[in-house]
Amino acid sequence: MSETEYFNVADIFGENVFNDAVMRERLPKGTYKKLHEVMENGGDLDLATADVIAHEMKEWAIEKGATHYTHWFQPLTGMTAEKHDSFISAPMADGRILMSFSGKELIKGEPDASSFPSGGLRATFEARGYTAWDCTSPAFVRQDPEGTTVLCIPTAFCSYTGEALDQKTPLLRSMEAINEQALRLIRLFGNTTSKKVTPSIGIEQEYFIIDRDKYLKRKDLIFAGRTLFGAMPPKGQEMDDHYFGTIRQRIASYMKDVNEELWKLGVSAKTQHNEVAPAQHELAPIYAQCNVAVDHNQLIMETLKRVAGRHNLHCLLHEKPFAGVNGSGKHDNWSLTTDDGINLLEPGDTPHENIQFLMVLTCILKAVDEHAALLRASASDPGNDHRLGANEAPPAIISAFLGEQLEDVINQLVSTGSATHSLAGQRLHTGVSTLPDFMKDATDRNRTSPFAFTGNKFEFRSVGSQDSVAPANVVLNTIIAEAFADACDVLEKADNFDIAVHDLIKKYATEHQRIIFSGDGYSEDWVKEAERRGLPNIKSMVEAIPAYVDEKSVAAFERFHVMTKTELESRVEIEYETYAKTINIEALAMYDIAGKHIIPAVIRYTTRLAESINQVKSACPDVSVKVQSDLLAETSRLLTETQSALLHLKEVTETAKNMERGCEQANYYHNEVVVAMAALRKPVDALEMIVAKDLWPMPSYGDLLFEV
Ligand code: ADP
Ligand code: MG
Repeated sequence: MSETEYFNVADIFGENVFNDAVMRERLPKGTYKKLHEVMENGGDLDLATADVIAHEMKEWAIEKGATHYTHWFQPLTGMTAEKHDSFISAPMADGRILMSFSGKELIKGEPDASSFPSGGLRATFEARGYTAWDCTSPAFVRQDPEGTTVLCIPTAFCSYTGEALDQKTPLLRSMEAINEQALRLIRLFGNTTSKKVTPSIGIEQEYFIIDRDKYLKRKDLIFAGRTLFGAMPPKGQEMDDHYFGTIRQRIASYMKDVNEELWKLGVSAKTQHNEVAPAQHELAPIYAQCNVAVDHNQLIMETLKRVAGRHNLHCLLHEKPFAGVNGSGKHDNWSLTTDDGINLLEPGDTPHENIQFLMVLTCILKAVDEHAALLRASASDPGNDHRLGANEAPPAIISAFLGEQLEDVINQLVSTGSATHSLAGQRLHTGVSTLPDFMKDATDRNRTSPFAFTGNKFEFRSVGSQDSVAPANVVLNTIIAEAFADACDVLEKADNFDIAVHDLIKKYATEHQRIIFSGDGYSEDWVKEAERRGLPNIKSMVEAIPAYVDEKSVAAFERFHVMTKTELESRVEIEYETYAKTINIEALAMYDIAGKHIIPAVIRYTTRLAESINQVKSACPDVSVKVQSDLLAETSRLLTETQSALLHLKEVTETAKNMERGCEQANYYHNEVVVAMAALRKPVDALEMIVAKDLWPMPSYGDLLFEV
């Protein structure tokens, strides 16, 4: 027998999830049926039924080691929140306790909402907020051998007056919107059997892993999640030797743990590989229903962080932990699936004949063109400002890549009014007799496109690595629902459906062809070409935010009851605040590090140089001390520059902090503070290249990236 322990993923997959199989086994038939009714068609669960479910959930969770439960929710911080309550009831007369969990506790929670971002929706004194069970996303137990094992119940979070205070509520609303409009559309095409259409989402997550001891020596990573200083190491990613490279043992063992934890939580972790930058990796699960995939992405981020600690590693989810080195993103693969398994984004072999597909496709192009600025806003967070448009991530200009085959079909439609053929994939000859020849895809890939069609799904590649992927999907679902609705409004009234569809596809293709781009998204030419086409090029988060409340956006969100104008306004406020707070923390961390660590270290170095000059001179007056003198002069010059940049940064940060919260303040942070931060970083990074390694107060990029 082999020494290797036999391990079957199927044995542990979903072990910690109160999934359908567990419910079918543990819930009384009637209860199970009622719950499914609500899961599929909505409506309220009666309290008696909820009591039965809660009891079984609790019993099951206790068997898994849980002592507490929590309503697990996604406030507008981009992260998840939880407050743990133990299952214990008040002690009985004889001093013993019981473990209890009621239907009411399952369905509704009442966290004090005043400390979560609300964007003015709720004053601090009106602290009441509610969490409500999202029964379409299964509860799970998060086991923690060294901490508390908790039953986590995915919930939505809203204010006393019913406004959404979280990511999930609008997401669920947007899923309902697209379900309704997609059904309307496919009915027109003769589909009478599908009952539900759901966005399917597959999220690829990038991250960095570094050594925890080194991490703890970097105050910037601790406070800001990214390096605020740091000179480039002699070797970066120019050799491309990390991408898909062999995974180092320490990382492999970390990934093994991450996968096992995720599998137990029912997250179908599927793909892992090294990414482009040194110390950078990617994890992707198999796609799932939109809200579940979004929950799972949060679990993936949490798990990546938690498990790293156990291996004395640290996981950086920030979009740009290291300047000059590729940053991290998240790819949101999006398609639409019916309950009977039809993917509405599947073109088939001959897309030109697939009229329903062409209608869906041109609706998506229309949506993305009309709401490009909103889509751009949905992917903005402070960290992503370092990436979008920076030749490693998609450009800040939103465009769609369709690939040769579909682009050709669209061209035929636009120029002649009808498409008569589809380019086929050709046989790929490897030139080696023992290797199989195979059929090429009809379409190559384009890595620079923000919104790329990849066979039977669109891949939205602009989302930030540490951000919630919910807003991007809320926007996609809503704007595409709107395009479907617009199309249905026309088609339902048509006398001759075939002619009407044909005309509408042609109309949308013609009107929105400008959003299609297959060239190099990183090139300067594209920036000019996009401008000529009238496509927005929104370079920063503060410039992107207003798109949430422009007329078009408000109309779309309100039409499908995804968000009210008030909710959108509150989100805008939160975004400005988040931006201001993030930059403020970074600025404070910068002058703390520069003032308390870097300047003193540099002074020590100048002292060492001065001492050397004096000692050498007195020992041997004829020997040249030019090297020391030159270094001393250069170091002192940079030190002066550092000090004055530091004072300037302090001044503008102080001004920013005292401004009233909102648009103007966020813009001031962007235009003044961020610029002052860059001005401080410049001389410090130059000093790092000069000052003796033993004196530099923190690990270098080389130490962090190459010594994991
Ligand atoms: P890559 O983008 O590297 O080619 P894949 O295409 O294999 O990777 O998949 C990336 C992600 O897209 C995975 O999470 C995968 O499950 C998901 N995915 C695959 N097909 C679909 C689909 N039809 N709808 C949504 N996501 C999908
Ligand atoms: Mg991809």
